[in-house]
Amino acid sequence: MNATAIDEWMMRHALTLARRGLGRTWPNPSVGAVIWRMEEGQLIIVGRGFTQSGGRPHAETMALSMAGEAARGASMAVTLEPCAHHGKTPPCAEAIVKAGIGRVVSAMTDPDPRVDGGGHAILRAAGIEVVAGLLADEARAVNLGFIHKIVDQRPLITLKLAQTADGYAGVTGRQLMVSSANSKQRVHLARANHDAIMVGVGTVLADNPDLTCRLPGMMQFSPVRIVIDTHLSTPIDSRLVETCGTVPTWIMIGPNVSEKSVENMRSKGVIIERVSLDPSGHLNLRDALRVLAEKGITRILSEGGPLLAEALAEADCVDTVEIFTSPDRLGREGVLAVRSGLRQRIENQQLFYADEPVTVGRDRLVHYTRIM
Ligand SMILES: [Zn+2]
Repeated sequence: MNATAIDEWMMRHALTLARRGLGRTWPNPSVGAVIWRMEEGQLIIVGRGFTQSGGRPHAETMALSMAGEAARGASMAVTLEPCAHHGKTPPCAEAIVKAGIGRVVSAMTDPDPRVDGGGHAILRAAGIEVVAGLLADEARAVNLGFIHKIVDQRPLITLKLAQTADGYAGVTGRQLMVSSANSKQRVHLARANHDAIMVGVGTVLADNPDLTCRLPGMMQFSPVRIVIDTHLSTPIDSRLVETCGTVPTWIMIGPNVSEKSVENMRSKGVIIERVSLDPSGHLNLRDALRVLAEKGITRILSEGGPLLAEALAEADCVDTVEIFTSPDRLGREGVLAVRSGLRQRIENQQLFYADEPVTVGRDRLVHYTRIM
């Protein structure tokens, strides 16, 4: 293997590590780092790490502490520029210099204005060779939630929708659950790698859902649950409220809800955020997403039904769409799963590209990705 091939191989390994932390590192990005060296013609990985739950320690710190003295003169691949700002701990760029790393391969510059090239500059000033931009597209996809939070003041949004073979989400007031066990597993896995799940209050009223990750061994990775609820209609005895001591529940409300109702809900442990309304009297989703980004959320899975899905698409805030189609027909008039505002966007090949459909259990899944 030549040097470039080794760099790329190590970066792919670091990206795999970074993906492991998705959904658990907010408000920080999930980063991966690998340290390797050549000894007597042998390639040896001496350290690896990814951002730990809650955002600390950082990936570079994990990898450096694993490598110890072996970091001296070694190479490091990292999926995002090492941080340069002093937070609760000294910046990773300084730790890398101190550990004696000889060469750093970095996938992309950190868009955070506190870093923005400053990490690479610290390394170069210390005489470390820095190769920036390797596998930048892949790294951008892994870091996309963090990038949107910084650059667009909104989290990344994945829409999940389920429909019958004839295109319905179900009958009025009740949402269809995806049909196969495999699809359910996939949805629960998606819950775990997002920071939050978002639904409209209609889903809460119709289904009284838990919105937790129920995969064995992954229960503790249940994300924050967010309800878009203009008039604060979420019932006080709903599961989302009753279980908010275990898994956080945040409700985004409009400006006209009485302070008494807000206090009542807060006394149960629910986090309430007021946001503005749009001209049609609905919650201003852009404003709600800005508030969520300010609170540190980088990745949202929307399971909120057709109306919320369409509204998010029309606010131009949707990054990926997953549509599960069951082989069964509803066979009568129901609620359309993919409303026209969403359909027009995902079928516009300048805005989204669709992967080949895959079979998941009995269902067919089509994955649409926003073109950056
Ligand atoms: Zn760092």
